[in-house]
Amino acid sequence: MNKKTIRDVDVAGKRVLVRVDFNVPLADGKVADDTRIRAALPTIQYLLDHGAAVILMSHLGRPKGKVVPELRMDPVAARLSELLGRPVRKLGDCVGPEVEAVCRALSPGEVVLLENTRFHPEERANDPAFAAQLASLGDLYVNDAFGTAHRAHASTEGVARAMRERGGEAVAGFLMEKELKFLGEAVENPERPFVAILGGAKISDKIGVIQRLLERCDRLLIGGGMANTFFKAMGFDMGESLVEEEAVETAGALLKQGRSRLVLPVDLVVADAFSEEAHTKVVAPDGVPAGWRALDVGPKTIGTFESALSGARTVVWNGPMGVFEMEPFARGTFDLAEVLAKMEATVIVGGGDTAAAVRQSGLADRFTHISTGGGASLEFLEGKVLPGVAALSDR
Ligand code: ADP
Ligand code: MG
Repeated sequence: MNKKTIRDVDVAGKRVLVRVDFNVPLADGKVADDTRIRAALPTIQYLLDHGAAVILMSHLGRPKGKVVPELRMDPVAARLSELLGRPVRKLGDCVGPEVEAVCRALSPGEVVLLENTRFHPEERANDPAFAAQLASLGDLYVNDAFGTAHRAHASTEGVARAMRERGGEAVAGFLMEKELKFLGEAVENPERPFVAILGGAKISDKIGVIQRLLERCDRLLIGGGMANTFFKAMGFDMGESLVEEEAVETAGALLKQGRSRLVLPVDLVVADAFSEEAHTKVVAPDGVPAGWRALDVGPKTIGTFESALSGARTVVWNGPMGVFEMEPFARGTFDLAEVLAKMEATVIVGGGDTAAAVRQSGLADRFTHISTGGGASLEFLEGKVLPGVAALSDR
């Protein structure tokens, strides 16, 4: 990686401003799922162990540029304090004279959490003056929020530039480093054979990803709703299935371009309604009955995919194989997760829904890396420059 990380800088005695992704689900005024807080712990603990004072900041939910009391960071500070085993002081704002005074007076080993950055409209507007105010709080900036690195906001992009303009460093934290390493290496320099698996709802969301992976992988397996549009391009009648008419031409072009490398489902679970109570059956892709819809890949397809995966050394998976949120259409996704969990290969999962499905499968710890950033992981796989990464100090 060509960006500096916290290992490349001296943090002892410094006040370190860290952008984390603490955008966690809340319920009854408490943190309902602390996965993202835990994911930031290695960076926070490293900084504390190396004599830094830590100033944390994050957005939470969508307060739309004003103070929304239910979206204050207090429950996050409470949970983080439990996890760290030391006090975490939550400040009333993320900028301003009071916040500046507290940050100036911090001693090594102290941790503060700033208030929700999105209480200020300047955050999403990437306002330079606001970013400079944030930067003034620390001697050094660390970005450990991969999940928002694809957004040029004040706390992700503007602050990094502002910190460097005032002579400080802007570096990646461990979580950010891990994401960039695994997602980056998988696509830039994969150990081969390299197999990509794509699914999910729509082709149009992921054309860039499909194209880039198709150029680089040895095989590309396609499942989920997006397979329907490929079948439509092959001239099949897909009944009531989700088909993107405006993407049929693109799918046809990809079929031509991909030829031998593309692997499509050989059977589909179809239903007579979009419902858990629907009647279902398994049909060939050219056999979807009128009025029925394809909601999962069938059992033969998992066998086909398993063969296509055999011997692979690197696998990237984005997109569920079916409507895994409904039990009758979840099997393709979970069976695939099981196949991947058994493989002796680097297996990387990107995409918000796919990551959720893998966690639900209970097999998460058998995967090499599950990206914490949904949109960011897709943009990264697509080869786009993430503004929050680009703004960091070069090696
Ligand atoms: P990710 O967030 O991992 O990138 P997507 O958002 O692209 O994945 O796709 C996930 C969604 O795709 C899920 O909500 C799932 O229900 C839906 N989906 C998968 N297969 C189908 C299908 N055959 N028909 C309709 N929706 C589908
Ligand atoms: Mg999604």
